[in-house]
Amino acid sequence: MNKILWCKNCILPSTRPNLDINKETNLCSVCDPIINKSKKINWEKRKKEFQNILKKIKNKYDVITFNKVIEHVKKPEKMLKTAKSILKKNGIINIEVPDVLAAALKHVPIAEYNPFEFIKTNIVGTQNLVEAC
Ligand SMILES: [Zn+2]
Repeated sequence: MNKILWCKNCILPSTRPNLDINKETNLCSVCDPIINKSKKINWEKRKKEFQNILKKIKNKYDVITFNKVIEHVKKPEKMLKTAKSILKKNGIINIEVPDVLAAALKHVPIAEYNPFEFIKTNIVGTQNLVEAC
């Protein structure tokens, strides 16, 4: 029987279907490309490209909708300021947040399967939401 390996980032086990753990990096086949890819991205270049896009769409939109998004954003105040910058003068920003009980029930199987990620996501999400208020 093979020894069970665990991803050092998300702690998923090697026994999970369709998941491999890289024995050199100790990262799973989901985390490995994300972590290594993010190191190669030129974030300054990306930021300039994003700012150029924002200039082109400034004051362009009547309505912007965030449907169960804000609780996942690290700096929601920045996201909202950016959204405001591309909104027309009397535009509307519609923000929907999850119904905590419905979301909790829906995610029970996910929580049982990957409790560490579930708790991390909910704590960070709740913190983001509190900071946005
Ligand atoms: Zn992983």
